[in-house]
Amino acid sequence: MSDRPPSPFVTLLNNDVCTLIEAAPDVFQIRFKNRAANAYLVRGSSRTILIDIGLSSNFPYLKQCLDHVGCALDEIDMLVLSHEHLDHVGAAYHLNGRSIIAAHRLAANKIMLRDDFSMLRKMFNEPSVPINVDLWLEEGNLIDLGNFRLNVMYTPGHTSACISLFDQDQGLLFAADTLMPGGVMGGVFGSGSISDYIQSLERLKGLNSKILLSGHGRLSDTPQDDVRIAIQRSHGLLSDTAQLFDALDARSNFEPIMQSVRDLNKLDDA
Ligand SMILES: [Zn+2]
Ligand SMILES: [Zn+2]
Repeated sequence: MSDRPPSPFVTLLNNDVCTLIEAAPDVFQIRFKNRAANAYLVRGSSRTILIDIGLSSNFPYLKQCLDHVGCALDEIDMLVLSHEHLDHVGAAYHLNGRSIIAAHRLAANKIMLRDDFSMLRKMFNEPSVPINVDLWLEEGNLIDLGNFRLNVMYTPGHTSACISLFDQDQGLLFAADTLMPGGVMGGVFGSGSISDYIQSLERLKGLNSKILLSGHGRLSDTPQDDVRIAIQRSHGLLSDTAQLFDALDARSNFEPIMQSVRDLNKLDDA
């Protein structure tokens, strides 16, 4: 049992598939009960955005949550994708041509090339439908919603293409799979790197964040504690990984990969 104090966040809707929670005025978490990542609706004074959108099968319920707060789908000016994993982007094709779809350039590239391995298509069993990324984001971009100003931070590690969004004035940190409540680690996937992950967490630690809005799990009002735990765990993972590679005898395991590269190069020379 946790001795955490009761959540300060207000639940607005709760059905079999998802929960709609108010994180701050005009900021809503849509939290799914299956493997889909959380989606966030931010209704600014001049623009409305969605951050991640979950799995395609959940889309009708996502729309129901938007309806509940009086936001029609066509009012969403931009969908920002935190990274390429399909639990975050699966339903994005529903917004093709309707909203601007934005992602870090490395995520945009993977999504546009339909790189199923990077997007974990088998794991999430999502339909193979193209998602059109309209805007390729970089560190230092600013998404101005009027009363919210979201700074785009490039925070690789979980994959090579992760971004976090930070509103300095309100201390809102949208950290997707890079930082989660309680310091839960998002894991390091194909294009990711544990040392990049550590550096990204160190950068998030330096922010004056007040509310953590993650890709999975509850909202957190203790982001400083969460990031400290995550950094400790990530150092643990780094030493575990070194031991794991020793135990696996990495050289013999890399040989089939190196051989396939040599074979491929031979074909090109022919
Ligand atoms: Zn995720
Ligand atoms: Zn992920």
